[in-house]
Amino acid sequence: MRLRKASSRLALAIRTSSPEASASRRSIASIIWSCYSGGDLSKQAALIRTGRFVMNGADPLVPYALYAGCDGLIWGGAIFAPKTCVALVEAAAEGKWDEVRALWKILEPAMGLIWETRLRAVRLRRRQSHRLRCRHAAQAVARAGSREARNAHGAGSVTVSGTAKNVFVASRLPKRAGVSGWVAILQPRTPRPVLSEAISVDVAIIGGGFAGLSAGHRLSRLDPTVRVAILEAGIVGEGPAGANSGFIIDLPHEVSSNDFSGESEGRFRDSVLLQRSAIALATELAAENGWGKDLFDPCGRSSNAMSAKGDKHLDAYSRQLSKMGEAHRLLKREEIEAVTGSKAFTSALFSPGTVVIQPAAYISGVADCLKEPVRLFEQTPALSFERSGDGWPVKTPKGLVRTAKIILANNGHAESFGFFRRRLLHVFTYASMARAE
Ligand SMILES: Cc1cc2nc3c(=O)[nH]c(=O)nc-3n(C[C@H](O)[C@H](O)[C@H](O)COP(=O)(O)OP(=O)(O)OC[C@H]3O[C@@H](n4cnc5c(N)ncnc54)[C@H](O)[C@@H]3O)c2cc1C
Repeated sequence: MRLRKASSRLALAIRTSSPEASASRRSIASIIWSCYSGGDLSKQAALIRTGRFVMNGADPLVPYALYAGCDGLIWGGAIFAPKTCVALVEAAAEGKWDEVRALWKILEPAMGLIWETRLRAVRLRRRQSHRLRCRHAAQAVARAGSREARNAHGAGSVTVSGTAKNVFVASRLPKRAGVSGWVAILQPRTPRPVLSEAISVDVAIIGGGFAGLSAGHRLSRLDPTVRVAILEAGIVGEGPAGANSGFIIDLPHEVSSNDFSGESEGRFRDSVLLQRSAIALATELAAENGWGKDLFDPCGRSSNAMSAKGDKHLDAYSRQLSKMGEAHRLLKREEIEAVTGSKAFTSALFSPGTVVIQPAAYISGVADCLKEPVRLFEQTPALSFERSGDGWPVKTPKGLVRTAKIILANNGHAESFGFFRRRLLHVFTYASMARAE
């Protein structure tokens, strides 16, 4: 097998679904090679003909792709454990097979989990799309005449993955694994009611996390008469919006990128503006409702370094922030030790704009201060919505929302309705909470 040392060139692995997709990504400077695992040799050959460094993913095509001139084999592990994968490839290139086997043993449990989960997801998706196709076919037959007439005029359709669609059915709904620590330390909250009737509103919002509830508040600020129904599948605070680290940041996380220039400067400014608008709305809500620092603390944030390399990153970030005119302060080892009580940190960069929240308390507070005519319904999943005349009725298990506009604020579950297919990755991360002694 032809293996090439990739460590020095490994900037970013991109799984391409097609040579066309690869071509569109070629303009991105930091992408230096492509990985294709679509299982279609003709597509892989087209990608090889582009002259780029091309790898084949872990699929049965591997030997044929290598005959065709592919540069090597790489698999999803490169995304999850890049350093170990590069070390493995290097050891193989040098013929150190004992080392390769030892590294593979480290990777194997995680790889097994990824592959097994991916296979299950594919099987599940096939079963679901078969069921959905049957359901859509039945609905299409029932409405064939009027639908065709409407589509012929291009009216009232939404384009999902290139296909005009009028019916969106949730293929799955969120599940809660358990109670988060943030919720457990709060007083029990009385959830808003389940929707159990048919109502009419101007805007329906699907999802009661940060995005959905903030959209409800923002709409009512823009027009206090606008009728809004927010549908939350579970209980507010028990989803991701109530189970995170609680940093509402104004400046980007990235402390190691090399420069902010040209387009990236524009993107930086846009994202800072967006983040500061969110912080402004949150600050207004905190002031109106008298939330204390235990819930909403505009204390700023420090990024701490633990090595000379980290110090360098912070220096570079500081230079970028100065260039953008953003307030910040570099802290020396003794200064950050005085703040944290730990000798572990070698330097730190403090920026004042971040707010730290108790996420479950914050999002519950945001829900509980919604006022008529913005209504929140909890334990009320949106099961489907479809075009009907001028509106988009949304069905829930016990009710119906008639509306002209829908805001989809259900995060990764947008994919359940068919949006952003194959473009979203659900990631589960966990943290534990300890009691201070
Ligand atoms: C461990 C961890 C730490 C994090 N730390 C931070 C941090 O410090 N700062 C930060 O900014 N972000 C952080 N995040 C990310 C942050 O939590 C998410 O980006 C955020 O919750 C997204 O908000 P959202 O409103 O878009 O989606 P969500 O909070 O996921 O809300 C979407 C809601 O839609 C509901 N829903 C889904 N489908 C339906 C349906 N069919 N009908 C009705 N409702 C539906 C769900 O129940 C859910 O409540 C962290 C995430 C994790 C996991």
